[in-house]
Amino acid sequence: MIQRSCVACEREPAASGLLFCALCTPPSQLQQSVTIRMTKPNQGITDVRAKVRPDPTRRPVREAKSVEAWNHDRQRLELKTIYTDRDRDLFVEVWQDPETGEIAWAKREKLSDQDHHGERTKAAQRNQTGGSDSAG
Ligand SMILES: [Zn+2]
Repeated sequence: MIQRSCVACEREPAASGLLFCALCTPPSQLQQSVTIRMTKPNQGITDVRAKVRPDPTRRPVREAKSVEAWNHDRQRLELKTIYTDRDRDLFVEVWQDPETGEIAWAKREKLSDQDHHGERTKAAQRNQTGGSDSAG
């Protein structure tokens, strides 16, 4: 059994077998949905989303999403989890061994840095195509 600290806050112990503590992903506030897509016979992709959305008309404050993804560096299928937290300006990406849960690679950075990268990309695309700015 792997016991580790929460990958989001790095303070509280994560729930057994999970990446996050109950403070970061409160079970009472989570909306969870699981999608299983069959890509080939006997090979599916599991997609788990957990959201904390106090105001249903607004974007989720916290969101955790796990998906099976092929890792080219390690040449194997791994469990990739993306966690975003707008309150704490936090972006976490974790790659795990899907069998053991061992964390192969993880990074934490500011969500605003992520947004910034996105803005730069959009700006570059606008400059390339000469398209007009869109609202939003
Ligand atoms: Zn936590």
